[in-house]
Amino acid sequence: MDLDKLIQDRIRDVPDYPKPGVMFKDITPLLADHVAFAGVVDAIVNHHGRGTVDKIVGIEARGFILAAPVAYHFGAGFVPVRKKGKLPANSFEQTYDLEYGTETIEMHQDALAPGERVLVVDDVLATGGTARAAADLVARSGAEVVGISVLMELSFLHGRDKLGNLDVHSLVTV
Ligand code: AMP
Repeated sequence: MDLDKLIQDRIRDVPDYPKPGVMFKDITPLLADHVAFAGVVDAIVNHHGRGTVDKIVGIEARGFILAAPVAYHFGAGFVPVRKKGKLPANSFEQTYDLEYGTETIEMHQDALAPGERVLVVDDVLATGGTARAAADLVARSGAEVVGISVLMELSFLHGRDKLGNLDVHSLVTV
């Protein structure tokens, strides 16, 4: 099976989770399959090439699971972006709009050095608000976003429109 088919096969659609009208893309079957999991990590690393980035920024929570092995294989450091209130040291925060209400994410102020090259990794790109806010946090550190890699892009939500000229790489687009 090629990687595209394998990914589609191992991501489970859960209707009406976490609320009515949302089709949740559950990646746990993919993570439990070592061939699929390793294939995804390798595909992200190969797309950019080892040695091209200094830090991988992973977005809580499922983004962490993908970003950590990507960082290891890249030979890059790992930096967490977390929901507000979870990081212990001084943090930058960024608030963005959700369908109803807002969300705030944070990153440690000293996690990135000015000029460092950063790849942002998450599981799903939906409306793009989370990835946009993460990229803005990176920019506030003076570091450079070289790309955003996601496992799956929900193209009908037009998340790319929020991401301007950033290089968005998705392994599967639905
Ligand atoms: P967004 O900010 O709308 O692009 O949403 C992206 C974030 O929310 C990612 O961290 C995803 O893990 C999560 N997310 C949004 N929509 C879904 C979905 N349909 N299935 C799984 N995760 C989602």
